[in-house]
Amino acid sequence: MTYIGRFAPSPSGRLHFGSVVAALGSYLRAKSLNGKWLIRIEDLDTPRCPPETADIILQELDALGLKSDGEILIQSHRKKIYEQALRTLLDERQAFFCTCTRAQLTKRPCHCYLETKENLPHASIRFKPLRGYTPSFHDELQGDIKVNLPDKFITLKRSDGIIAYNLACVTDDALCNVTEIVRGSDLIDVTPIQISLFKALHHKIPDFLHLPLALEANGYKLSKQNHAPAIFDLFTPQEIFIRALIFLGQDTSKINSNASLQTIIDYAVINFNLDKIPLSSQSV
Ligand code: GLU
Repeated sequence: MTYIGRFAPSPSGRLHFGSVVAALGSYLRAKSLNGKWLIRIEDLDTPRCPPETADIILQELDALGLKSDGEILIQSHRKKIYEQALRTLLDERQAFFCTCTRAQLTKRPCHCYLETKENLPHASIRFKPLRGYTPSFHDELQGDIKVNLPDKFITLKRSDGIIAYNLACVTDDALCNVTEIVRGSDLIDVTPIQISLFKALHHKIPDFLHLPLALEANGYKLSKQNHAPAIFDLFTPQEIFIRALIFLGQDTSKINSNASLQTIIDYAVINFNLDKIPLSSQSV
């Protein structure tokens, strides 16, 4: 079976070092296994994702030599597909319309799943995980993992009509036949939800591999919300690539930033060693 991996950035800002680590980690894992690597733009949260940022991210990935082996999916163009997945879940009573406000939910549990509400345009749609929903899963880098399960009912469509990340992510990973999801450890907590969604939608469950996060000196994750600097403002593509390789514990002994990007990429793929990736997140 061909390995299929992916990188799925949310275009809420330009690439920062943390996003490069996730891109490169997933790319090297796929290429070292002779697999395919796909790019997907997760831009459904429109207020947070200005339209021009997706193009900039794609140019930046291209400048790093990281090219998608298939069509680049843009989630905002795929809303009908997510609506179909929602329909399946509603028809099979895995999902329900919920009219609780956020304030109500902080005071009392939601019981909307006990009623059959239909076609409420301003209600959210939530997921009731299947029996067997468990906080444990196997991670290909970190081993067996147990997380604190997030909220019992998971929002799949917000009351403002926006399709939530978990539904779109699972639907796309399944339709693209992704065999392993490699991404940052900040998404470990949602993995059990996603496993339950894969099952509820009758899809095969891929493997998961969570990479260490790049942290600021104060211990917070580098992120667009924390105003992490755009990495291309600081370094050349070769420097960025090598810094990310070092962060991922990979051998860089025979390359330096004067080499061509292609030389660096080829070296990194041939010498990729999963066991060298540190398990814990580190500040950069
Ligand atoms: N779009 C998510 C992010 O940028 C990543 C989703 C994923 O890899 O599953 O944080």
